[in-house]
Amino acid sequence: MIPISDLIEQLRSRGARRVALQFPAGLAREAPGTSAALRDAGFEVIVSGDACYGGCDLALDALAYADVLVHFGHAPVEERPDVVYEPVRIDFDLSVLESVVPLLKARRIGLVTTIQHVHLLDGVAAFLREHGVEAVVAAGDGRTPVPGQVLGCNFAAARATGADEILFVGTGVFHPIGIRLSTRARVVALDPFTGQAGVVDADRLVRRRAALMEKARDAANYGIILSSRSGQRRLDLARRLVGLSEKAFLVVMREVSPDALLDLGFEAYVNTACPRLAYDDQVRFPVPVLAPPEFEILCGARSLDDYTIDEYLA
Ligand code: SF4
Repeated sequence: MIPISDLIEQLRSRGARRVALQFPAGLAREAPGTSAALRDAGFEVIVSGDACYGGCDLALDALAYADVLVHFGHAPVEERPDVVYEPVRIDFDLSVLESVVPLLKARRIGLVTTIQHVHLLDGVAAFLREHGVEAVVAAGDGRTPVPGQVLGCNFAAARATGADEILFVGTGVFHPIGIRLSTRARVVALDPFTGQAGVVDADRLVRRRAALMEKARDAANYGIILSSRSGQRRLDLARRLVGLSEKAFLVVMREVSPDALLDLGFEAYVNTACPRLAYDDQVRFPVPVLAPPEFEILCGARSLDDYTIDEYLA
């Protein structure tokens, strides 16, 4: 169960009576127990039942019925006075780092992870120091408020280390590939649960995206997707992209789904919502969905040599 004694104190000190709760998919099963504990502590509770993708996706509908929204699992991507963020810590055994030491070439590296593990970064750095490697943990930007934290849409904390080699500790391949494309540094990724470690290769993704850009080149029209989710709205960027082509039109949507894109009928789209949609979900989409830098390349506003990952910077 999620520890909530500090949360109860915080809610009481705010004078909150009605509390809305929002859980990401991995924590949704905590909803009944957490709701009961907060009700026993004297609060009226309402749970958001909508899917939650990140700290960028606040349940403002549920907040409309409450004094405060408690968003579990993520750090703030935007500060709001009526939202409490409760990141959840997930530990791992530091001995797992044994497998990554032989893969590190530099004696000074950058060190990053996702929000669940940032509390372990001091321990990771101490472990590496004992093995002759200095690990630099740097502050990112306003969207990643905890030093050493990266998001799938923001790798500022990796860039800020200024290191030629970066160690990413976390699960999945998207973050390390994003770090590689964003920093151009050598990136080593370690899964802290399986102990699997490897040097990251982003070339396959770039080749796949180049083929997609070619497919989108002759589209008769482009829908420039603008998200209505709280922390995914990039209106200035979307407007600038519309300005790059007479064939481009602004499309506002909340749920970017294959059916919705098909129904709208544009021959290709450019995604300014969560950057991961374009990369992770392309196989599900019926037509090309480009990232903003890719559309800039198609329109001649950026060179192919300057290919980069889409980031949402604060
Ligand atoms: Fe995560 Fe996407 Fe939201 Fe960024 S925009 S925080 S990658 S869900």
